[in-house]
Amino acid sequence: MKVLKLSAQGLPQSWISLEQAVIHYAAGEVRWEAGAEVAVFRGGHNAITGAQSIITVNSIIGTRGVPNINPFELKPGLTNSKLFARDRNLCAYCGDTFHESELTREHIIPFAQQGQDTWMNVVTACRACNHRKSSRTPEQARMPLLYTPYVPSLWEDFILRNRRILSDQMEFLMAHLPRNSRLCA
Ligand SMILES: [Zn+2]
Repeated sequence: MKVLKLSAQGLPQSWISLEQAVIHYAAGEVRWEAGAEVAVFRGGHNAITGAQSIITVNSIIGTRGVPNINPFELKPGLTNSKLFARDRNLCAYCGDTFHESELTREHIIPFAQQGQDTWMNVVTACRACNHRKSSRTPEQARMPLLYTPYVPSLWEDFILRNRRILSDQMEFLMAHLPRNSRLCA
């Protein structure tokens, strides 16, 4: 389980562990909270009052400090796991859904024809289709794409990189997605 950490202004910064979240709470850096309480940590006892310190952690926190992500400069990194999630494990050529272990990163314009390894030039394909298409473009292989590639937004990227998102975190992130996102379908 991860906590969604945002800047005080509400821009997503990272997925952090409960322990990392507690450190932000203990340092007084949490400016606001959203989502549900997900954990309670008990600390030491106050020497004078005997009261035990308690930190409750929420699933979404906004923290003080200089954001380490500028959303306008950010290009989400391309990984197979995020690519398959963007394309919902659907092969772009045969249209079937596969388990991740059966999927490949398919370059629409192949490397052999100067294709790039970028979000706009890759789709998810099953092993059989990737093999059949080989080093050809979809036109050359007569294998039309069933959907088009796109670059995920910052908000989508946060959904794509965590496979175990809590429902309140998902709701929070989904509220910021562009309407053309495949994740909204
Ligand atoms: Zn296929």
